[in-house]
Amino acid sequence: MKVVVIGGGISGLAAAYRLRGAGCEVVVLEADARHGGKVRTEADGGYVVEHGPNGFLDSRTQVLDLARDLGLGSRITQADEAAKKRYLFLDGTLREAPSGPMSFLAGPLLSPKGKARMMAEPFVPRRKGGGDESVYDFAARRIGREAAERLVDPMVTGIYAGDVKRLSLPAAFPRLHRLEVEHGGLMRGMAAMMKQRKADMGAAAGPSGRLTSFPGGLGEMIDALVGALGDAAQAGRPVQRLERVGAHGWKVHAAGGDPIACDAVVVATPTDVMAKLIGPLADGATAPLETIRYAPAAVVAVGYRAVDLPRTLDGFGFLVPSGERRRVLGVLWSSTLFPGRAPGGHALLRCIVGGSRQPELLDLADDELIDVVVSELSITLGGAMTAPAFSKVVRWPAGIPQYELGHLDRVAAAEAAVRPLSGLHLAGNGLYGVSLADCIARADALPEMVLRTE
Ligand SMILES: Cc1cc2nc3c(=O)[nH]c(=O)nc-3n(C[C@H](O)[C@H](O)[C@H](O)COP(=O)(O)OP(=O)(O)OC[C@H]3O[C@@H](n4cnc5c(N)ncnc54)[C@H](O)[C@@H]3O)c2cc1C
Repeated sequence: MKVVVIGGGISGLAAAYRLRGAGCEVVVLEADARHGGKVRTEADGGYVVEHGPNGFLDSRTQVLDLARDLGLGSRITQADEAAKKRYLFLDGTLREAPSGPMSFLAGPLLSPKGKARMMAEPFVPRRKGGGDESVYDFAARRIGREAAERLVDPMVTGIYAGDVKRLSLPAAFPRLHRLEVEHGGLMRGMAAMMKQRKADMGAAAGPSGRLTSFPGGLGEMIDALVGALGDAAQAGRPVQRLERVGAHGWKVHAAGGDPIACDAVVVATPTDVMAKLIGPLADGATAPLETIRYAPAAVVAVGYRAVDLPRTLDGFGFLVPSGERRRVLGVLWSSTLFPGRAPGGHALLRCIVGGSRQPELLDLADDELIDVVVSELSITLGGAMTAPAFSKVVRWPAGIPQYELGHLDRVAAAEAAVRPLSGLHLAGNGLYGVSLADCIARADALPEMVLRTE
C-alpha cells in the first residue's frame, strides 16, 4: 500500500516511520524547506536553543519508544537533578512550587482559606450531567477559586499558552477529567493512580515524570526520522490539492513534482490547512477545522554570564499566573535543565511571550521583544539586568492549538465528515493532543487504521 503523509512535523514524520515499519510505501510532503515543524533546535555560538518544544516527560512511553527504535536510546537525557525545583511568580516574587498535593497545604502559596477549600476537595461531589466544562470552572469547583487562579492558571499557561477560562477540561486535560469521572475526585483519583503504579512497578512512583531530551536537543529526533525515511521525506513540497480517484484511490498534488497516486493519505498539517485540503471533498469538515484557534507564542532565548544574573538559576524555571499581569508567560532555565546548552560560565534562559493573554506582543520588533524580556527578567529574578550576551527570537504566529470548549465535538464532526472518504486519515496536534507524546501516540495508532480501512 502506498501512503502519502502531508506535513513533516513530528506527527507526520512519526506516522510515516510507523507506516513504513508496517510495510507501507510512504512519502512525506513538507511545505517548509526543512522538516520538523515546531520541533527545531539551533546551535549558535555555544548556545543550544529549542525553537519550539523543550522536551518530553518520561512518564509516557511513546517518545522514548520511538527514540529507541530510531537508534537514539543511548542519547536519551533526563533533565539535571539541579532543575528539580520549580517556581511560580506570585505576589511579585518567585516562590517555590510545591512538589505534591500535600505540600500545597504546607507552603505559602495559598491563604488559610484557600488551603481549607483545597482540603475539602475529596468531599466535593462529582459534577452532575454531562457537557463540556472549562478548566477554570472545573478547578474552581473542585479546589476553589484561589487555587484555580494561583496554581492551575499558570500550569495551563505552561502547556497551552492559553486561557484557562476558554479551554475545555475533557479535551485539554483528559486525564484530570477522568480522575473525577472514574474516581469521584482529584485526590481520590491520584491516590488510586499512585497505588496502581506502585503495584505495577513495585516501587514508589509519582504521577508526573521527568523532562527528557537529547544532548543536541529534540532536533536529534527529527534528524533521525528524516535520515531513516531517506528520499521518502521530501521538504519544500507544499500540498495544494487532494484528488479522489475512483472509490478508493487518491492523487496528491504538491508543488515541485508530479501528482502522486496513492492508496491512502494522512493529513498531519495544522487544522486551517487541513480545512483547505479536505473541505472541497468533505464540506462538513471545513467549519469544525477552521474553528480551532491557535495561540501565538514567541520564544525569546537570552544568554548571560552567570555572574551577571541577579540570582542563581537553581531550578526548572518559573511560570506566571495571569493575575500577576506580567509580559512573560514563563521562563525556562534551559542551561540548568540541560547543562551544555550554554558556553562555560554562561546561562541560557528561554522566555515565552504572547499566548492567548497578550497576542499583540508578537507584533513587536525583535529588539523591542528582547527589551520586554530583559525588563521582565529584572522584575521576576529580582535585580537589574543588562543587555544579554546572546539573544534569539523565534515567532510562532500559530503556536499552540487551543482545545477550547466544544473541541471534542469539533474533532468528532471533522472525523464524521471524512469517514466516507476511505483512505483519508487525520493526525497532528490540532486534533489529538498537543504534547509530543500525543502526536506520536496518534502516529503509532495510524498503521492499524490505514491498513484496516483499505
Ligand atoms: C513554543 C512551543 C513550546 C512547546 N513546548 C512543548 C514541550 O515542551 N513539550 C511538548 O511535548 N510539546 C511542546 N509543544 C507542542 C509541540 O511542539 C507540538 O504540539 C508538536 O511539535 C506539533 O507537531 P505536529 O507535527 O502535529 O505539527 P507541526 O509541527 O505544526 O507540523 C505541521 C507541518 O505541516 C506542514 N504543512 C503545513 N501546510 C502544509 C502543506 N500544504 N503541505 C505540506 N506540509 C504542510 C508545516 O510546515 C509543518 O511542518 C510546544 C509548542 C510550541 C510552539
